[in-house]
Amino acid sequence: MEGQFMQTSNVQSSSQSSRFADCLLGWFDVFGRHDLPWQHPKSPYSVWVSEIMLQQTQVQTVISYFERFMLAFPTVQDLAAASQDDVLSHWAGLGYYARGRNLHKAARIIISEHDGEFPSHFDEIVSLPGIGRSTAAAILSIAFKQKYAILDGNVKRVLSRYDAIDQWPGEKQTEAKLWHRAEVLMQTERADDYTQAIMDLGATICRRSKPLCAECPVKAGCQALKADKVGAYPVSKPKTEKPTRQVVMLLALDGEQIFLQKRPQTGIWGGLWSLPQFDNEAQLSAVLPQTGEQSVLETLPEFKHSFTHYHLIIQPRMVEADAKAWALAGQWMNLSQALEMGLPAPIRKLIEKTESKHVKNGQLCKNG
Ligand code: SF4
Repeated sequence: MEGQFMQTSNVQSSSQSSRFADCLLGWFDVFGRHDLPWQHPKSPYSVWVSEIMLQQTQVQTVISYFERFMLAFPTVQDLAAASQDDVLSHWAGLGYYARGRNLHKAARIIISEHDGEFPSHFDEIVSLPGIGRSTAAAILSIAFKQKYAILDGNVKRVLSRYDAIDQWPGEKQTEAKLWHRAEVLMQTERADDYTQAIMDLGATICRRSKPLCAECPVKAGCQALKADKVGAYPVSKPKTEKPTRQVVMLLALDGEQIFLQKRPQTGIWGGLWSLPQFDNEAQLSAVLPQTGEQSVLETLPEFKHSFTHYHLIIQPRMVEADAKAWALAGQWMNLSQALEMGLPAPIRKLIEKTESKHVKNGQLCKNG
């Protein structure tokens, strides 16, 4: 009797799963996004680059970055041959720079270990830097039409609502449950369309706020909607206060030149160019003798930049310096040249402000 029940229940769940996939694909054929730049032409390389850019960044923002990136590095060979500075300068603004660094590293591995061919096996793909299970599944399903389910932020939200899951999706056991559901619901041979469809559903219908349930192709089976509790899912992460850190940054100028240092490869803003950074004023004072003759330090207004795990208060100090007497390791470059380098977004803003002040002052002098 129990076996019979289980059989009936499995048949029901399999037919429910194929209904989910059929409804989703029917909707996708009419309303899905079919004109994204990485879909034409679609190659493992273009899908990979887009998937990495789409981690933590929305489609609308990614489009222009993707187009510029592909113009600069049209093939994996071009990307592997480029310098890290060049790659990061095309990444600057997208944030999460480890993604750009890993993309570059992975391109070099594809050249050296896979003869320049993007691998097509899960284990090979997931072992490349910067590629986790969901990204590997997206590449395999979209570019190679292999049946691998994805579980990115959008899909987690859709499934948490569809099944009315009462735990935070970031919790290990809940995530395992969601992976299982993602795989079970993928009842179709159209693996590439299914993956694009569930991403589109999450981005355009089952949105973070104000989901459009009336237009949703899978509303008939949605448990959150049935209970009239859509707003309760996905369950939020238990709150913890983000810590705040303070740093002092040195903005050294010699005429139109600015002094920058390359940050270490690991840690925040790894591999990008930035201003010399100090934990406190005392640390800055200790290195000032190495900067030769300079005018008095000017205190610029501090500002806050927030990372996923903490807030950073940046206290800029500006100094008129003499590049020839300078003994700190790093590089002097023109303000305009500096703005072409891979810079962290808040540092770019600060340099832009400095540059525009310079231009104004220059004009004032000329006019004067
Ligand atoms: S019915 Fe609403 S909450 Fe449920 S999956 Fe569709 S859009 Fe999301």
